[in-house]
Amino acid sequence: MTTVDARDDPSSLESSHSVTDVLAGRAADFAAARRSSGQPRARSARPTTGVAVLACMDARLDVHALLGLGEGDAHVLRNAGGVVTDDMIRSLAVSQHELGTTEIILLHHTQCGMISITDDGFRDKLLERTGARPDWPVHAFSDLEENVRLSIARLRSNPFLAATTSVRGFIYDVATGELSEVTL
Ligand SMILES: [Zn+2]
Repeated sequence: MTTVDARDDPSSLESSHSVTDVLAGRAADFAAARRSSGQPRARSARPTTGVAVLACMDARLDVHALLGLGEGDAHVLRNAGGVVTDDMIRSLAVSQHELGTTEIILLHHTQCGMISITDDGFRDKLLERTGARPDWPVHAFSDLEENVRLSIARLRSNPFLAATTSVRGFIYDVATGELSEVTL
């Protein structure tokens, strides 16, 4: 079940129904399958691998499938670009100090949308479309590998992530499915 039934033909949906309704229906199936499989209701909140993954939100990057992770295995934190923002630091600090993770994996990817935009260009677009220009940084970048290196350095030097034993960064090729490590 990897596609949204209604996606290819949105006109087939009743106006009062959204794709969210379709997905919520699937969630009901999920619970039913879980009940019938006899799977325990809740695993520990502490990730079994001790790993936190910081990845771009790109829909082609299936982090769990790529890294062979299942439910309960890892924290997967995502945003546009997989950028090390203050909020990612907040989540990683909770991940380490409340839930015991010690390793961080950074996952960027080819054809990232954050390469094709600029901070100013995107702010201008928002101004045009919404009438307001945000004061927050967009965190667009131009060099994929360099951005991974910068992110690794930012994580390694962050004083709140003192439990870190390993930070490594990778680039996922959305065309081939291959993962390559970025060396420092
Ligand atoms: Zn991306």
